[in-house]
Amino acid sequence: MVICRVQMQKFLPQHVQEIVGYAVKHGYKDIVADAAPLLLAMPLEETVARLPVNIVAPWALYYGAWNRVLRSARSFPLQPRISILRSGGHVPDVPDSGRNNQVSCGCNVNKQICDILMALHDVDSLQNLATVFTLTTTRCKNVTSSLNKWRQAIETEIGNIKPSITYL
Ligand SMILES: [Zn+2]
Repeated sequence: MVICRVQMQKFLPQHVQEIVGYAVKHGYKDIVADAAPLLLAMPLEETVARLPVNIVAPWALYYGAWNRVLRSARSFPLQPRISILRSGGHVPDVPDSGRNNQVSCGCNVNKQICDILMALHDVDSLQNLATVFTLTTTRCKNVTSSLNKWRQAIETEIGNIKPSITYL
């Protein structure tokens, strides 16, 4: 059985849905946990079509939780109360305007925000925040600090997602 588990982990990337079905059936929760990031990288309709029926509902709940984080992550710069500008201690010229993306030193963060929003296009992109937040560059420490707060807020929300094991 040990060999079987090792083999399943080896073939996980190519046969993730089949292996998850087998792992859930036999209670191999560590394999299910290993598979979760791979499944999240796939479109939901594809996963649902190929997962065993009894796993579809729990998986949809888990995927839904990630999708809520994605929506929240994408709206973050546009919410005045938790604006990256406010939380960074920078006061925009026009309060409560999400489009006024200027930090206290005068640097404009619109380009950085646009680059990050374009990179945050699906649930899978939440698993690659290091890439998402390094696609855009700036030499301004204030902008960098604000963007880091945005990233940290997303990471906190991801940390609050219940592991898929609790669903499956
Ligand atoms: Zn600056």
